[in-house]
Amino acid sequence: MRGVQVFGGWVARGALAGTAAVLLLVGVGIGGAVARDGAVQPVRQVRSVPVSVKAVALTFDDGPSPTYTPAILDLLKEYGAKATFFVIGREIMRYPRIVRQELQAGMEVGNHGMHHVALKGLDPTAIAADVLPVERAITAISGNRPTLYRLPKGVGDARALRTLSDMGYAVVYWSVDAHDYLPRTAGAIASQVLREVRPGSIVIFHDAGGNRQPTVDALKLLLPRLRAEGYQLVTVSQLMELARNAS
Ligand SMILES: [Zn+2]
Repeated sequence: MRGVQVFGGWVARGALAGTAAVLLLVGVGIGGAVARDGAVQPVRQVRSVPVSVKAVALTFDDGPSPTYTPAILDLLKEYGAKATFFVIGREIMRYPRIVRQELQAGMEVGNHGMHHVALKGLDPTAIAADVLPVERAITAISGNRPTLYRLPKGVGDARALRTLSDMGYAVVYWSVDAHDYLPRTAGAIASQVLREVRPGSIVIFHDAGGNRQPTVDALKLLLPRLRAEGYQLVTVSQLMELARNAS
């Protein structure tokens, strides 16, 4: 049986039937925060989302970039697509205007840390020191605090996950890696994503941190194909909402 893909393995779909909260707030046995009512809150992690409609979430890490992000936004708009940008704090400080453009275009903006340091091995105070300035910067621009966090370098540990959960974040992984941080052609990036994408996939790209022109060019190939195949292109929160509505 194939179900929700979570950090550490698969959870059978049947085991989650009718429990939207669990569906989206999948714990992996590492404990969780204790709410005011005494209930233990599972650490929320999501890698892909079981949806009954053809929808996927494209995500872009490490920006904003003045070189690539505006081009990506133009393409997303052209194809009626929404996406999620996991931004780095130090880049927000340099290019707040681009984060504003992302939000004005209806994109979701998530937290990717202040300095892109892996949270593994850090204590909660150090984690908060890296996460909160980004949260404040995004909130100052959008008026809403971000609810999604992506681990820099994809690396965390139980303490980091619990700390992020305590801070109100869902930790977002991915089920399709475009591998666009490697030297690859646009065609290779696009064909890999098209081969692996499924309804409910979360796809990771990068809009900064290197030459991302192949990523931009891959989107020119991918976006029309995904739309032709009937995919809605939504933010991560919208994808989770689609699953919630279907349950
Ligand atoms: Zn990153």
